[in-house]
Amino acid sequence: MTNIVLFGKPGAGKGTQADFLKIKYNLFHISTGDLFRFNINNKTSLGNLAKTYLDNGDLVPDNVTIDMLKECVESNFKSDGFIFDGFPRTISQAKVLDKFLHQKKVSISAMISLEVDEEILIKRLINRGKISGRTDDMDESKIRNRFREYNMKTSILQDYYKKQNKFHGISGIGSIEEINSRLTKLIDSFYKND
Ligand code: AMP
Repeated sequence: MTNIVLFGKPGAGKGTQADFLKIKYNLFHISTGDLFRFNINNKTSLGNLAKTYLDNGDLVPDNVTIDMLKECVESNFKSDGFIFDGFPRTISQAKVLDKFLHQKKVSISAMISLEVDEEILIKRLINRGKISGRTDDMDESKIRNRFREYNMKTSILQDYYKKQNKFHGISGIGSIEEINSRLTKLIDSFYKND
């Protein structure tokens, strides 16, 4: 099983790139942000619980997020692997994910970080908000809060995966195709080293 954590700040291009990678490598794409938005749109109890956090750009509490993630992995475990997009976002999420995968006799293959400066990301997100209508993309103060959350709770995960020799950083600046080719070159090199 190939299990990739696609990492990076909001707007770094994780979702866009995951859409290509899932087809090329036959992986199941799990975006926790998409799962929350699906639940919010369908007014489920999970959605009602998560809504205020998403609206404000705050992280949803770990226990809620972890339960949702585990359920999604369980129900799609027959795939060749997963792309985790937007998860883990805290150290405890990463630890739970490692333990959970270990119990299933698999592990994270690599964490790939798409690196882009915040000022570029703000412009990208504001533009995305005009098309997607995502309220957390339409307000600069909410975007800055999401970066604050990332810098306080999430960026530390790079060290977590570096310690396991699984961290890979690539530039997330350029055309979608350019970034896609950087990613596939990197992922193909893992397969060669198998
Ligand atoms: P995203 O689509 O990945 O930018 O996520 C949108 C929002 O969903 C975030 O700002 C959080 O409110 C929530 N969210 C997504 N993934 C997580 C996670 N792993 N932990 C906590 N909250 C999350």
